[in-house]
Amino acid sequence: MRILLANPRGFCAGVNMAIQCVEEAIKIVGTPLYVYHEIVHNRHVVERFVRQGVVFVDTIDQVPAHSTVIFSAHGVSPEVRKRAKARGCTMIDATCPLVTKVHMEAIRYARQGYHILLVGHAGHDEVVGTVGEAPGAITIVESPQDVAQLPYDDKSPLVYLTQTTLSMDDANAIIEAIRLRYPHVKSPPSEDICYATTNRQQAVRHLATDADLVLVVGSRNSSNSVRLTEISQNSGTQAYLVDDVTEIEHAWFEGVETVLVTAGASAPEHLVEEIIDDLLKRYGGHLEDRHVVEEDMHFELPLSLRSLRERAAAKG
Ligand code: SF4
Repeated sequence: MRILLANPRGFCAGVNMAIQCVEEAIKIVGTPLYVYHEIVHNRHVVERFVRQGVVFVDTIDQVPAHSTVIFSAHGVSPEVRKRAKARGCTMIDATCPLVTKVHMEAIRYARQGYHILLVGHAGHDEVVGTVGEAPGAITIVESPQDVAQLPYDDKSPLVYLTQTTLSMDDANAIIEAIRLRYPHVKSPPSEDICYATTNRQQAVRHLATDADLVLVVGSRNSSNSVRLTEISQNSGTQAYLVDDVTEIEHAWFEGVETVLVTAGASAPEHLVEEIIDDLLKRYGGHLEDRHVVEEDMHFELPLSLRSLRERAAAKG
């Protein structure tokens, strides 16, 4: 069997930063340590931290007063910050800077009197957080069909923004529908779909047609991992999303000579390695590293964590 390994794949700069935040916070404040929502959308990452004493919560009411709480990479609404502050919590904000950028755009356009059409998935943590920045000034648009239902006219000041982890193709189809109905709509100053999502999708789009089967390593609630699976399927190559090696069904490999392996932005590399080892053991063959886009992005730890570290160091 020929195994093609997609590059780039796996952890992005935002996920690396968010995971490092939790690791550092455990060292500084110990456990139990509270994290609002899954720090990143990956079952293995979350389970590893749970084993270390991290408590993941869905509401701030679940965080004991005066404890430390970390906000996940997907960001939170100002209401969540307000509630955490009211409980006297120490807050560490692990929101990815590229999500924060969309929050800032939402705040700015809402202040300027625009109504924001947010292209994204209702209910996704990131979308919930962004909507919370300007409730009343944002409408979520999930499909081109949604555009037809919008109540605005050609005089309404409109701008569109997008969730960072959408499929570029799906987002473009929705944006095209928005532009068709509202030619005056304003675009964001720069692309909201992030570099990591774009690059991983580009690699799969480029390589999937060379393979008979695509394995995407990632969790089902990881938006960018699900999008990689869809992109492969749309290009005509069967794809499966697996959390780890145990989810692989070997019936999938009947008649398969070439497999492409990739991973969503929140999937740890050791899961990819375990899958490759298993495939090589079962089917023999060889591995080919395929580089489509080079990446060199790094995000600093947030100021809230660096200050906490400095305070802890000063106390000795
Ligand atoms: S996928 Fe993009 S937006 Fe999400 S954490 Fe990674 S870099 Fe940030």
